[in-house]
Amino acid sequence: MKIKKIMKQLIQKGIINRLNLEQEVEYFSNIVTNMQKAALLVSPSYILLPTYQCNLSCPYCYQKNFDLYSQSRLTMDENMVDNIFSTIARIEAKRGETRQEAKHITLFGGEPLLKGNKEIIHYIFQKALALGHVKMTIITNGYGLEDYQDLLDYDCIEHLQITLDGPEDIHDQVRITKGGGGTYKTILDNIRLVLDQGTKVNIRVNVDRRNIHQLPRLASELMAWNIHKYPHASAYVGVIHQTIQDKDISHLLDEYDVLTYLTSHLEEYPQLALYGLPEAQIMNSLQEALTKGHPAIGLFRSTHCKAHSNNLCFDVNGHIFTCLENDGTERYIIGKMEQKGDITWEDETIDFWQKRQVSRIKACKICPYALFCGGGCAIRAEERHGDYMNHYCNGYQAVFQYHMKKVLQSKID
Ligand code: SF4
Ligand code: SF4
Repeated sequence: MKIKKIMKQLIQKGIINRLNLEQEVEYFSNIVTNMQKAALLVSPSYILLPTYQCNLSCPYCYQKNFDLYSQSRLTMDENMVDNIFSTIARIEAKRGETRQEAKHITLFGGEPLLKGNKEIIHYIFQKALALGHVKMTIITNGYGLEDYQDLLDYDCIEHLQITLDGPEDIHDQVRITKGGGGTYKTILDNIRLVLDQGTKVNIRVNVDRRNIHQLPRLASELMAWNIHKYPHASAYVGVIHQTIQDKDISHLLDEYDVLTYLTSHLEEYPQLALYGLPEAQIMNSLQEALTKGHPAIGLFRSTHCKAHSNNLCFDVNGHIFTCLENDGTERYIIGKMEQKGDITWEDETIDFWQKRQVSRIKACKICPYALFCGGGCAIRAEERHGDYMNHYCNGYQAVFQYHMKKVLQSKID
C-alpha cells in the first residue's frame, strides 16, 4: 500500500513514468524543440569584432589559422559600424524591444582595444548607447588598457574579461609582445587600474596538464597584488582545447579534472579559493531548488551555447557568424553585410547551427544530464569525433554529480 502511494507520488511529480524508451525520447525531443523555439525568441547577444589584429604574438593563437584572416581588413570604419547598429536597431524593433530592455553587446577580436582603434571604439560606444539600455562586455588581453582609461567612464560596461597564462615566469613565455617581451606586469597593472575605477574584471586562466600545478603560485601572486580585496574582481580556470595541430591530446584536461585539482589541493593551498569552481551555477541553482522549492529551470538548455540560437557576431569584414570563437572561418558565415547595410543571410548555415539540439545527438538523447549540458560544444565535438552532431561531455556529468552531492550534503547537515 505504502509502495503504491510512493509510486503514485513519483509519477505525479514526473520522476518516473510509464513510457517506453522510444516514447520517452520522443517526449524529450518535443520538450527540446519547444525550448529551442523559446530560445530563439530571446533577445540576441551582439558581438562586434572591430579587428582581427592583435598587439601580442602568442604562439598558440588559433586565429591565425582562420581562412579569412589573411584577407581581412584592418579595422572597422564608421560606415561599417553604422550598418551594424542600424541592423541591430532593425532586429530590436522587429522584436518589439523597448529602449529600456537591456541589450548585450560584447567587443572581441583580435584585440579590440588596440592603440590605433580608440576613435572607432568610442564611436561604437556612442552608437551602442543610442540604442537605450546596453550592457557592454569587453574581451581583451589587457595589454593596452592604459590607453583606454577614459573608456572606463562608461557606466554601461558590465565587465572586462582578461586572460593570464600562469604566474609571471610562465605567462611571460607565452603571452608575449611582437618583439618577444613579457606582458604580465603590464597586464596586472592594467587590471588594477580597471578595478580601481570600479569596473568588474573577470580573470580567465588557461590551463592544461602542463601548467595546472601553477595555479597555487598564480593565486599567491594575484593575492600579493591584492586582487582578492576587490569585490568586483573574480578569477576562473578555463581548459585549453584541442587545436587542429594537436595530434596528441594527452595534455588536455576536462572541467572535472580542473574541479578535482581545485578541490583536492585546497587544504594544501588555501589560495586556490580565489578561483571559482567550474559550472558553479549548477550548485547555486540546485541550492535554490532544494531550499526554496524553485525548479532549477534556469539551468535547462536545448543547446550547449547561444551559437545555436541567437548570437550575432559582426566582424571587421562585414561577415556575420554565430560562434564567438570561430569567426573568420568561411564555412561558418551566416550572413554578409553589403556596402549599404543590406544583409544576405546564408539560410543553410543558419540551419546547420540551429539544428544541433541536444535531443538530436545520439549519445545525449539518453543522457540524464542532457537538459543541463546541452550536448557540449559543437566545434570541440567535431574536433574530437569528426562530426559536430556528436557529444562533447568535457567532464560535465562528473561535475554535475559533484555539485549535486555538495548540495545534498549541505541539506543533510
Ligand atoms: S560552438 Fe563551442 S566554441 Fe562556438 S560559441 Fe559555442 S561553445 Fe563556444
Ligand atoms: S554530458 Fe555528454 S552525453 Fe550528456 S548531454 Fe552532455 S555531451 Fe551529451
